[in-house]
Amino acid sequence: TTALVWLRRDLRLFDHHALYQALKEADQVVLAFVFDTTILKDLPKHDRRVEFIWEALKEIKTELRQYNTDLVVRHGDPLTEIPALVEQFGINAVYCNHDYEPQAIARDGYVAVTLKEKGVQFNTYKDQVIFEKDEVLTQTGGMYSVFSPYKRTWLAKLTDKDLASFPVNHVIKNLKPLKSQYFPSLKELGFAKTNLTQLKVPLGMSGGEKLFEDFKRRISDYKDARDFPAIKGVSYLSAHIRFGTVSIRELARFAHEHGGAGAETWLSELIWREFYAQILWHRPDVVEHAFKPELDTLPFPNHPELFAAWCAGETGYPIVDAAMRQLTQTGYMHNRLRMITASFLIKDLLVDWRWGEKFFAEHLLDYDLASNNGGWQWAASTGCDAQPYNRIFNPTLQSEKFDPQGKFIRRYVPELAELPDAAIHAPSEFSANDRRGSLFVSFLEQTDYFPPIVNHAEQRAAALTMYKMHKGYA
Ligand code: FAD
Repeated sequence: TTALVWLRRDLRLFDHHALYQALKEADQVVLAFVFDTTILKDLPKHDRRVEFIWEALKEIKTELRQYNTDLVVRHGDPLTEIPALVEQFGINAVYCNHDYEPQAIARDGYVAVTLKEKGVQFNTYKDQVIFEKDEVLTQTGGMYSVFSPYKRTWLAKLTDKDLASFPVNHVIKNLKPLKSQYFPSLKELGFAKTNLTQLKVPLGMSGGEKLFEDFKRRISDYKDARDFPAIKGVSYLSAHIRFGTVSIRELARFAHEHGGAGAETWLSELIWREFYAQILWHRPDVVEHAFKPELDTLPFPNHPELFAAWCAGETGYPIVDAAMRQLTQTGYMHNRLRMITASFLIKDLLVDWRWGEKFFAEHLLDYDLASNNGGWQWAASTGCDAQPYNRIFNPTLQSEKFDPQGKFIRRYVPELAELPDAAIHAPSEFSANDRRGSLFVSFLEQTDYFPPIVNHAEQRAAALTMYKMHKGYA
């Protein structure tokens, strides 16, 4: 029998559940990837994710060529491309790993039915999480909507088996021999190279491994260092986790076996990811709507010019502007800054969280529907286990606490690089309040930097009123 392994968000050739099963059960295995035109058609030409995927596939191709086979790459709609590949290679069964996003579930359901009509099996496996959809439930069999008890149950359920690899190296000889296959260039796909190489973002399986090896040495410091964007305190693995160029089992196993406060905190973050994934699976309506239905229609004024200033990193709040520029210039934003910028958009600029969610979705290299939606609904106080609506981040205090010397700000807002530490968090306030103020007033007049677009205290009060007046809190 011949099996087709359809790669999606699992772009690696090790510890791979679907590939493991296919190699075990079929005589010959073909690996394929489809550049999905239904997704790609809406993306800008310089989309870093397309390049990230393309590079990961190139590495897979190079490795497969060593086994006298190749990766089969198509550019089209998987609903027709997968059945076409089945015909072309005389496939008896298609293997792939679960995807929990609503559109992917619909796509897979359709493909499964089409294949069944042809007498071809469609076999799917858990791979991108340790525990999926309904494996961690409350005692009454319901979904958890609070993180702490979810995490407790998740940890209590964990056994070595859940963290064990699905090794593929020893059976990889079952791959169907293929001569070199067509591999479209980025240009042929309608895309162009981005600044990923310039940014030295480690790519593909080898890049994921490099980052993980580096982080292993730093994991003990994670708890203390993770909140400071100017420090190399986090793993930077998110895009690799998103596209499966690393194995979640390897990561979780390392953290679990390592132990200690740093590793435990990091494992907890991996559990947050699974928490949001199961929320999306149980409540696909969160894609468009508030998790708390009573807060779905908060009357945000949604001023387009405030939103535009936020997107451009021109709000006059240095930490917010630095973070937004990091996002658009690199495709990454530090977690603390995601919380600060999201809170600022929603509760200082009074813009609907869905606008910010969409902007992040367009720019994040690690964009993940479940985590992004969860993060935004947390900040908007509309989600499960969310930030209480009356706890509103003060961007200046956050800046002083988490970027005390303004190192991060200086990197992305070079206009302010010359300001002393004490002035960098709120330059205009500093000029007004400090006896050296007049010096800074003239400094600010000479720079291109912006005065604050809103007054935090006033906007905070307006946000509190909006939430309080809304029927959800009445
Ligand atoms: P580390 O601190 O090293 O964490 C390791 C991994 O744990 C991350 O790679 C990620 O997979 C997971 N993780 C960490 N924090 C969270 C979290 N709060 N929720 C869910 N998973 C988490 N993460 C995404 O992967 N994609 C997104 O689209 C995304 N959007 C977000 C939007 C907002 C408004 C907020 C507040 C958070 C968002 N996050 C998202 C979560 C988090 O900010 C990123 O996962 C993290 O910054 C990635 O950097 P890292 O890999 O160095 O993280």
